Amino acid sequence: MESRATTSHSGRVGGRLVLEDRVVPGRLLIEEGRIAAVEPDAAESGGPYLCPGFVDVHVHGWGGHDAMGGHDALSGMARALLRHGVTGFLPTAVTAPLETLVAFAADVRAWTDQAPDDGAEPLGFDLEGPYISHQKKGAQNPAFIQVPAEADRGRLEALLEGLRIITIAPEVDGALELIRWFTARGVAVSLGHSNAPYATAAAGYAMGGRTTTHLFNAMSGVHNHEPGLAVAALADDGAYVELVADGHHVDPSVWPLILRAKRPDRLIFVSDAISMAGAGQGRFSLGGLEVEIRGDECRLVSDGRLAGSVIAIDTSVRNLVRAGLPLPRAVAAASQNPLALLGVTDRGRLAPGQRADLVELDEDLRVRRTMLAGRWHEGPAA
Ligand SMILES: [Zn+2]
Repeated sequence: MESRATTSHSGRVGGRLVLEDRVVPGRLLIEEGRIAAVEPDAAESGGPYLCPGFVDVHVHGWGGHDAMGGHDALSGMARALLRHGVTGFLPTAVTAPLETLVAFAADVRAWTDQAPDDGAEPLGFDLEGPYISHQKKGAQNPAFIQVPAEADRGRLEALLEGLRIITIAPEVDGALELIRWFTARGVAVSLGHSNAPYATAAAGYAMGGRTTTHLFNAMSGVHNHEPGLAVAALADDGAYVELVADGHHVDPSVWPLILRAKRPDRLIFVSDAISMAGAGQGRFSLGGLEVEIRGDECRLVSDGRLAGSVIAIDTSVRNLVRAGLPLPRAVAAASQNPLALLGVTDRGRLAPGQRADLVELDEDLRVRRTMLAGRWHEGPAA
């Protein structure tokens, strides 16, 4: 087996290769940061699992670092994510005043040019709002929610460069037209934070909406007489859905319904993590509110409501595989599927020509180390 000390851009790495449709023992030949060949070999059947690098398209922070906290925070977040197998990510802003979002966008663009090479790679950024529903605001600040009909397109132009995903509630005034506007400019609109009835939600996808912000959370749901966005998201075969698979945001008993309704290539794991993710256990202050982190849960001390996620994508893969999802499908939801949504095709599969972004998982599917463009980086501290 390949030595753990391998740090070059070229070489061989062996184990159980998680391909698109099966797991095969073998080796990957890495040349200049890319996969040059896939070599099946039964002798590697006892090795670690090797998967394409994970990609988190909805993550607000990690390891004590906030995505909206400037360059050092973005670097800290990128490094913390890489340790959990995340090789690419979209720093994600919460609902905020437009000038704050424009500043965030400029910050991420400037930082991207100097992002550390020992951190997850930024692939653009994601905006969660501000064109969402007051009725389904979740943890977004209602003071900053805006109405699409009143949006000044000229000012929105300043957001576009690098903007990959934006959450919009399709039922609010002017939303369908704004969905079309962003879609025409190459931005993936994610329907969410929405109280839309089924027909309006379906219209949102028909107008170009491509994905769905944290399915079931902060949206009109499944009701036999009043179906909402969750039904439209599951019924539209083309629509992607984000799943926060920490076991708390969506009860695990609901997972099989999602897995049966959704095409395998339309499921996307996101962490939706807050900055305190990975920063320890106990009580913290979150935007002036006291929260308690215990295990994979972060709840308000006042009323016990969920205050955000504190997992990374690797936990989602573990949880869904334990629940019976085949490993290749879980890995696709963590890698190939979010990349496909972004239109990135040069990574996300173990195949010749793909960039050598890899995650090495142990028998319990815990991250041992992560390869970024052919270079290994250590996994999370034990
Ligand atoms: Zn979020």
